Amino acid sequence: MYRKNAWEHLAEGEREQLMAFAEKYKAYIDAGKTERECVTEAVRLAKEAGFADLKEILKAGQPLKAGDRVYMAWMAKCIMLFIIGEKDIERGMNILGAHIDSPRIDIKQNPLYEDTGFAYLDTHYYGGIKKYQWVATPMALHGVVCMKDGSTVTLNVGEDENDPVFYISDLLIHLAGDQMGKPAAKVVEGEQLNIIIGSEPVKEEDKWTVKANVLKLLKEKYGMEEEDFISAEIECVPAGKSRDVGFDRSLIAGYGHDDRVCAYPSMAAVLDYEGTPAYTLCALLTDKEEIGSVGATGMGAKYFENTMAEIICAIKGKDEPLTLRRCLRNSRMLSSDVSAGFDPNFAGVFEKKNASIVGNGVTFNKFTGSRGKSGSNDCNAEFVAMVRRICDDANISWQTAELGAVDVGGGGTIAYICANYGMNCIDAGLPVLSMHAPWELISKADLWEEYKCYCAFLKGAEELEY
Ligand code: MN
Ligand code: MN
Repeated sequence: MYRKNAWEHLAEGEREQLMAFAEKYKAYIDAGKTERECVTEAVRLAKEAGFADLKEILKAGQPLKAGDRVYMAWMAKCIMLFIIGEKDIERGMNILGAHIDSPRIDIKQNPLYEDTGFAYLDTHYYGGIKKYQWVATPMALHGVVCMKDGSTVTLNVGEDENDPVFYISDLLIHLAGDQMGKPAAKVVEGEQLNIIIGSEPVKEEDKWTVKANVLKLLKEKYGMEEEDFISAEIECVPAGKSRDVGFDRSLIAGYGHDDRVCAYPSMAAVLDYEGTPAYTLCALLTDKEEIGSVGATGMGAKYFENTMAEIICAIKGKDEPLTLRRCLRNSRMLSSDVSAGFDPNFAGVFEKKNASIVGNGVTFNKFTGSRGKSGSNDCNAEFVAMVRRICDDANISWQTAELGAVDVGGGGTIAYICANYGMNCIDAGLPVLSMHAPWELISKADLWEEYKCYCAFLKGAEELEY
């Protein structure tokens, strides 16, 4: 079947472009370790690329016309970027969607306690993780503390070389006889993911306490009291920057490739788009995918539809509910999320003919789901044919895959939610090794082919007649 290794098919001089793009991606994921930080960074890049804030345009009652470049952030955790096209918007848009939340360890609302010389923060993990992977390694704390007076303090500790880091302990091997005999899910359990944040006590009312010292430091540095944790969102993530892997520097180990490795090139393809497109273009970066696309910032929420209603009103000069329906129905979307990269160390869970191979380029999943495609968006063959044509015409290395062998497991993405509008939607991402581990692995060649694919899709996708 059709497969080609991306490295073997690079054009003259393309390797330099590929490596340069990987550097930009690394800078993005190093700056964006939380969904909020990803949005902040996206807004910065959008402004730099000449995109205007749609909120301001709407507030001023200004119209939108072909060629306009706008962005809309939603609740500081999602962002949509648009370039208005020449054709009537009811003919649909070319959309690149991905999620910017990643598995992590969140701080509880009442987290701070002291035990036997340590000050700890208690946690509740977010998304599917192998908990034993997240211990005995340097961790950073990122987030916001929202005060009762309406102000917000931003927190980012553990990334700068001079910062302290934080630490979740594991049991020493010498005493781990019982632990080593446990199933992996029980080796480290959720309530054991307690983060060490200090151990030097201060004297308070004749008593030495570590907790009081930590509270004193938090007060000095952030002006926060213990109670303020209640209205905080603090995420504990692996500390440090993404790194090149291999003597050839062909791979990247990074935190949160799932799914920023799709989100960044989706955004970049729209930001880099030159001129006025035929169809309106959209990059849609959403939150909460890892916990089921729920909540006000998940793909299951209405923020995207609402934003489209506003855009149509700004283009047409009046609210046009039917145009909105037609626009969504006629749209084409690459719902981009990472695939399970074939791992020779664990070959048994894959069916190799239908696995995503690292280095073979952008990966299309006609369907995801598990146990008989359950929960999947099973993309129409007609649309698969269109993306094949677009990729081949643009000389892109691409492959198709399933998420593991049949009956082994599975997973879902945002594709099925967007497909609810009737739009044509296919999963398009790239292979990741060690998905949901603190440091995941991807190939720079796949990242490059993915970006090229997204650029070609924005130009080449059009309405489908059935
Ligand atoms: Mn994902
Ligand atoms: Mn995931």
